[in-house]
This record gives sequence, C-alpha cells and structure tokens, in this order.
Amino acid sequence: MKVLVINCGSSSLKYQVLDMSNESLLAKGLVERIGIEGSVLKHEKTNVEEKFIQETPMNDHKDAIENVMEALKDPVYGVVKSMDEIGAVGHRVVHAGEKYAHSVMIDADVIAALEECIPLAPLHNPPNLLGIAACQALMPNTPQVGVFDTAFHQTMPPESYTYAIPYEYYEKYGIRRYGFHGTSHKYVAERAAFMLAANLEDLKLITCHLGNGASVSAIKRGKCIDTSMGFTPLAGLVMGTRSGNVDPGIISFIADKEGITGDEVLEILNKRSGMLGLTGISSDFRDIAEAIEDGNERAALALNVFAHRVRFFIGAYIAEMNGVDAIIFTAGVGENDVNVRDIICSELGNLGIKLDLIKNKVRGKETIISRDDSKVSILLIPTNEELMIARDTYALVK
Ligand code: ADP
Repeated sequence: MKVLVINCGSSSLKYQVLDMSNESLLAKGLVERIGIEGSVLKHEKTNVEEKFIQETPMNDHKDAIENVMEALKDPVYGVVKSMDEIGAVGHRVVHAGEKYAHSVMIDADVIAALEECIPLAPLHNPPNLLGIAACQALMPNTPQVGVFDTAFHQTMPPESYTYAIPYEYYEKYGIRRYGFHGTSHKYVAERAAFMLAANLEDLKLITCHLGNGASVSAIKRGKCIDTSMGFTPLAGLVMGTRSGNVDPGIISFIADKEGITGDEVLEILNKRSGMLGLTGISSDFRDIAEAIEDGNERAALALNVFAHRVRFFIGAYIAEMNGVDAIIFTAGVGENDVNVRDIICSELGNLGIKLDLIKNKVRGKETIISRDDSKVSILLIPTNEELMIARDTYALVK
C-alpha cells in the first residue's frame, strides 16, 4: 500500500509518499507561501536528481493539495497513475488534548475533538484541520488517519503533568503539561531498542529531540513518563527562537518596563528569544558555531546556556527513572552538531555517561557514540516522523 503523509502549517505543506510494502520513500515535497503571493511547490521523486518546481497561485490548502496530486501523477516525476493507488492519508496533527493517546481513523467525532483542541494549539490545529478537510474533499474514498504530537506523552503520570496552580484551571480549561514531538520521541525510542538489541519494555531512555524546536523525554518501559515541553511548545529547553522555561514573573515585569502587553511578551519569548535572543545573530546553530570561532562571547554563552538546560533535564530524568540505559540525540542539532553533543555529555562520567570523542565525529547517521566502557549508551538516531506517521496509518487501515 502507498501512503501519503501530510504535515500542514499555516502557509506551508510538507508531504511524502511511502510504499509500505518495504517502507521506502517514493517521493517528497513542500508547498510554501500558501495563500500568499509567490506560492511554490517543490517536489522530488526518489532517485530522480532534478526537482519538479511549480510556481502557481495557491489560495488555500485545497489548492495546494490539488497541485501535490498533479505532481504525484506527473508522468516523469510522479509515483502513481491515479490517486486511487494511495491507500490512505496520514495527517500530522499537533494537539489532541487528553482525548487520544494513539493515532486514529478520522471521522466526524475526531474532527470535532480536534476542533475542541484549537484553543490549546491556535497556530497549529487550524491548518492541520484544513489539510484534513482538503484531503477529504479531494479524496473522498481514501481513509484519513490522524497522528498526534501529543499522543505519545499521554502516558505521563499526574505528578508529571500537573501544574501547581489552582486545580480548577485544569478541570475547567485543561491546563496541564501535554508535551510535543511525541512522534519523534517514540520513533527514536523504538530504534534505540533495536540498536541495543533489547526490549523497549526493559529500557530507561532519555530522548533529546534538539532541532529548531527542542524537547527531552524520559521513557521508561516504552512509556513516556515526563517531557520538557508543557501546556505549549514554549516550555522546557532553550530553542532556536523560544526561551524555554523562564520565571513566569518575568512576563508582567517586561510588559511593565517596555510598555507592552502580556501577549506581546509571549510573542517575544516565542519568536525573539532562545539562541536568537541570546546571540542577537541567529537561531541557527551553524551560524552560532561560526560566531564562536570568530571569538563572539555571547554566542559562546548562548551555547553553554543551551547545553546547561539539556544537562539539567538529563539529570532530572535520571533521578525520575532511578537510572538510564541510553541517551539519544536526534533532530537537526542533535543529529549534526558534534560540539553540542560533546558539551552536553562532558563531565557526566560519574553517572556512567561517557561520550567517545572519535565516534562522536559523525553527522546524521544512526550509530552508537558512547565509549565501550560507558555504562549508559549514547545513541545518534536521525528522526523520521513521516515514517512513523505512515506506519501508524498503514497499521490502522490494513
Ligand atoms: P525543526 O524541524 O524544528 O524546524 P530541525 O530538526 O530541522 O528543526 O533542526 C533545524 C536546526 O538544526 C537548524 O536551525 C540548525 O540550528 C541545526 N542544524 C542543522 N544542520 C546542522 C549542522 N550541520 N550543524 C549544526 N546544526 C545544524
């Protein structure tokens, strides 16, 4: 069966087509500037070097998906003769609240539940729902599956997810820790068990998803028991442009000093903080590494603040799980930044965590990077959220 995986943002749409008989990637692409002047689709077929690029106005997600369908049927760049060959569509949906701990077939009840979660993810769920509606309209006979960023974290115990604020806010408004990147944390946890030739149920894992957005999870016996993101994806680690955890008292203090609203402060914490805010240069770790080489002290400080926060969570999660068997690095920074992994893992030897500095000199490859005498394995695992979405979709439809 061929599965189409769709990930809709407010003005963008990423997609992949996978052949689930061998889990191979047939084609992938990206539509940008949906509803904005200059809409463009960039499509790549596996083993065809040249990209197919189409610049044409796309007013909404339905237009975008129509163009994707044309690309998928293209005689040269396409992978199907007709869309009937697509057995199912898997949609990444950010927030499913407390309703779903697993992926589900999408029906009217599911849509209603996801609409109820819009206040919890006002930027993400609406475009996700637009993508679902567009696919339902254009492929009315094809099963649609929802795969949720929050689902994997639903196994957290109440003491992990409950905030110490008046309990009625949880009851009335659903304010609690939800966590995100769940599909990625789950994928790398499963790969880790495979690489260690162990049962996931026997392992205590700490998964570090370090990309533009970043989060750490504690996974015990295959179940997430804690994660660093919270009610929103602003919490936890220092990120590209997000502050991660700060004292909430800062919000009204900045608002007061700068003569701005609380919402405007939150915008600053989301978009102008993190590595960008600290360095004043860039949110991208490659730019920051260059700046450090040029002697930029604030860039060096930013990197240390980032690493300090990751180490802080690693320590906390070792305590929570009473030990750890493996620490996993994934996503853009985790997979590629040799120096960041080195700083995070340095001086953890007393906890049995010893990075092999030679093995660590690797990018984007699934491999073990701890020393042979390290009690805790350190793994580099490129994430693959699309494959995970395709697997869940296939499993539900099959
Ligand atoms: P997201 O999916 O959250 O947008 P990614 O997981 O793709 O983010 O990570 C993107 C980030 O990864 C970039 O902003 C950059 O900081 C970092 N990155 C990518 N490649 C490298 C590299 N070769 N060295 C260091 N950092 C890198």
